[in-house]
Formats: sequence, C-alpha cells, structure tokens
Amino acid sequence: MSLVKEISKRRTFGIISHPDAGKTTLTEKLLLFGGAIQEAGAVKSNKIKKGATSDFMEIERQRGISVATSVLAFNYKDKKINILDTPGHKDFAEDTFRTLTAVDSVIVVIDVAKGVEEQTEKLVQVCRMRNIPMIVFINKLDREGKDAFDLLDEVEQKLGLQVTPLSFPIGMGYDFKGIYNIWEKNINLFSGDSKKNIEETIAFDNIEDPELDGIIGANAADSLRENLELVHGVYPGFDRDAYLKGELQPVFFGSALNNFGVRELLDCFIDIAPFPRPKQSEERLVKPDEETFSGFVFKIHANMDPKHRDRLAFIKIVSGTFERNTPYLHVRHNKKMKFSSPNAFFAEKKEIVDISYAGDIVGLHDTGNFKIGDTLTEGEILNFKGIPSFSPEHFRYINNADPMKAKQLMKGIDQLMDEGVAQLFTLELNGRKVIGTVGALQYEVIQYRLEHEYGAKCTYENFPVHKACWVEPENPKSEEFAEFKRVKQKFLATDKQGQLVFLADSAFSIQMTQQKYPSVKLHFSSEY
Ligand code: GDP
Repeated sequence: MSLVKEISKRRTFGIISHPDAGKTTLTEKLLLFGGAIQEAGAVKSNKIKKGATSDFMEIERQRGISVATSVLAFNYKDKKINILDTPGHKDFAEDTFRTLTAVDSVIVVIDVAKGVEEQTEKLVQVCRMRNIPMIVFINKLDREGKDAFDLLDEVEQKLGLQVTPLSFPIGMGYDFKGIYNIWEKNINLFSGDSKKNIEETIAFDNIEDPELDGIIGANAADSLRENLELVHGVYPGFDRDAYLKGELQPVFFGSALNNFGVRELLDCFIDIAPFPRPKQSEERLVKPDEETFSGFVFKIHANMDPKHRDRLAFIKIVSGTFERNTPYLHVRHNKKMKFSSPNAFFAEKKEIVDISYAGDIVGLHDTGNFKIGDTLTEGEILNFKGIPSFSPEHFRYINNADPMKAKQLMKGIDQLMDEGVAQLFTLELNGRKVIGTVGALQYEVIQYRLEHEYGAKCTYENFPVHKACWVEPENPKSEEFAEFKRVKQKFLATDKQGQLVFLADSAFSIQMTQQKYPSVKLHFSSEY
C-alpha cells in the first residue's frame, strides 16, 4: 500500500487528565471497540495510589514486563489508532510533557463533578502552546455533577479554550437519560433503569419533533430544546480547520464506565482528528509523506528487571517508513545503527515488525545509546525540536554513599538523566552534582533504581533553590557578564547540555539580578 494511504489511516494521540477523571477507563473502552481486548479490566492502570513509592516500584516492575502499555494500538473501522500513555501523577508530569511531543492530537478527560483540575490545566497549557488539536470528554455523567453550561464556562475560563459542544446531556446523575449527539444528530438513551452498557440510538434530525416528548418526557424534551438553542446561540459551530489549528475544541459528554458516549466520541474522533502532522526540525519542516525515514526518541523505558539492564527507546516516526535490519543514522553520535528486533505495539502486546509508517511508534532495544530527543534518519542531519526543560521544583545535592562504587553511581545518574527521570546540574564552583525534580517522589525512585540497577548507593542533601534560570548573555565577552559570573559563582551550574544555569534562591534574587545585569537574560526554560 502506498505510504500516503498508510499515513492517512493513522491517528496517534494521547489522553490527558487529572488522576481519577477516568483516563484508564476510557482507554479500556476504546480498546474494547477496537476489539483489541475482550473484557474490561485488561488495561492496567498506571496510577500511583496515595503517592507511595512502593506502589510506584510495583507498577514500574509490572510495566517493565509489559512495557507495551506505553503505546496501545488498535484498528477501528479502517483506521490504525495509537494511544500514547501519559502518566497523570504530577510527579511524572515531565514524562507526559515529552510524550506530548509525539502525539498528533489529544483527548482531555474531565470529571463532571470536579470540573477542571490542576493537572489538566498544566497539560492543556502545554498542548495550547503547541497548537495540538484537542477534544474534550466530560466524564461520569451518571453521577451528580456541575451544570453543563457552568462546566463549559469553566473549561473556557480555566483552560483558555474555545469550545463547541458536539453532544449535550439529557439530565444528569439520577435523572441522566441520555445524550443528544449534535454531531450525528441523534439521541442515545439509557434504556430502562439499568445504566449498564445498554444503549439505544434514535435518529432525530429535528428535535422539535413531538415524538421526542414521548420518548424522554415532555419536561426533559423542553429543557433539551432550550439547551440546544442556547448551545447554538452561544458557541461557534464546529469548524474542522479551527480544530486542527488548535483554535476550537469540540466537547463530548458521557460516562466511560458505562460505555456511554464513548462510541460517539471515537467515531467523531476518527473523522476529524488529524493524521500525522509535519514536524519542525532545527534544519527544516519534515513532512510525513517524504520517502526517507526520520524519527525521534520521546521516551525511554527502563526494564526494571535487574538481571537485564536493557531499555526500550520509543521512536515516533516522523516521515517515511522504518524497516527492520536497515542501517539508520544516529545523528547525535554520527553513527549508523541497525535494529534486528524493532517492536511495534498492538493492544497490550509488543511484537517484532518489519515495517512501520510515519505516525507509528517503534520500540528499540537500547543499551545506552539513546537519550530523549535523539534523532534517527537515513543519512540527513536533522534535529527535531523537543520539549524544553523547565525549572524543576525540588533541588538536592546527590552524594556518593559507597566510595567503591563511584563509577557505577556516575553511570547510573547519567543513564537515568538520559531517560529524563530528573535534571542534573553540575555546580561551576566545585563540580558538585545537584538533582532537580518536579516531585519529591523521584528522589526515592532514583535512589531505588541506582541501587537495584547499578549497584550504587546515594544520599541527598537539601539545596534550597527557588528556580533554575537558563542564562543568556547579550555579549559573552562583556564586563557585565564577567561580573555576573564572578558575583554569582556560588549559584551557577551547567545542565546536561552544558548550558549555563543560575540557581536562584529566591524570587527577589532573580529580580535583583535582572536589575543589576540587564544584558544577562534569564530564561525559565532551556529553549529560548
Ligand atoms: P484515571 O486515573 O484518570 O485513569 O481514572 P480511572 O479510569 O482509573 O477512573 C477513576 C475512578 O473513576 C475508577 O474508580 C473508575 O471506575 C471511576 N469511573 C471512571 N469512569 C466513570 C464513569 O463514567 N462513571 C462513574 N461513576 N465512575 C467512573
């Protein structure tokens, strides 16, 4: 089949939400529609209960065995769907940010009772910055929740989105009767009292039809008519171009647990969601239908089994086809590599494949050659723009607790940083290493993994830093910059890329520094 045809079949996306909104449940229902799994309960939640490290270790160990949960692929109608896993726990937000560099669109799940929550806000902000097309799914309609219009307002206000409802609920919670599908112009009803998977779809082109009163009751029919009038009056109509540009977000209502409104979401999704999009590299814009292969590493998954310290590097194919046993250029190392057992993903399994197409994800076994952001091509020098690093929230010195294992410790730290577990800063003054993370949980994870995978022991020491700022002097040779470096020496470090970073101890200190050294720019992310 032609490359263009293969590409146009692909839908690679992520589901983002605050923990507990229903991401795992929705994923599972989508897989059921694809026939990729046969029963509910087959998709393992990657959730960390109560934030306990032991849970995380347990989950990671399971995932180490079944790493395929990082990508869940299935066929639905004539489309190939790739769902990329995005951890909802805030301590792993960076992992999710990076995964968002590999998706072509996202579905945002919101709990009808809780509304827009903190983690959703952060993740949507990243999607907005990158103009990623988003569809919103408001979940748990079988429960009492907020009024639909209030919720739509909240989504617009807090997430900065422009919404257009493509479905609308009839009642809610105890009175939840079903959903009017604005997109398909039909009504889906829960039949009888049981809200269990029973669904009846009745086409209704004209909701003025008095038959509606007979089906859902006169009161519900009237209020649906009023609500839809308001929807049409207040919100812009659906416009696919605007959606694809990230300027308009369709909204669906439903209940993932009851499998209600999920098919509607999926059917609309495969119609409107984008197939693989061109991606900007530092050198040029790369289009998916180019004949030559290119791709980049967006995630590295360590195998938690201490007996095999191998890792799986996840590559998003940006253009062309990736073929087994074919030499490709590892651009950063300027070295040709070939892969005898690239993994593709189907449902929860991974299998060796001969050929994968732009939009797909392949998993490559890695013994330490890759780091996040690395590019593979057929020979061309390309560097895909990744997600920048943001300032971590926590900073600690890392000390070696076993002098005999200094080498192992360095290797372990190095590889864990390549995986993107945390950020490493090396102090200019004395070469001490500082680890920055988004969540305190990571320190325990790092300690555990250093010990179990590398046989190294470490201790931490607090280092009070308010924010890491990436430093850009207007003129690196200026007197002002030299003075800045002299005065701030104690607070200067380099990141893993060798970029200069100012570890400010307070917001006040950032402000003072900016006033005193106006020609030295301070940035809050590593890309500027
Ligand atoms: P995640 O953290 O976003 O992956 O959330 P889960 O899918 O694990 O769901 C969190 C909880 O909400 C679980 O107990 C689900 O059974 C429940 N849940 C998910 N969808 C629905 C729904 O539509 N209605 C109700 N009542 N509960 C739901």
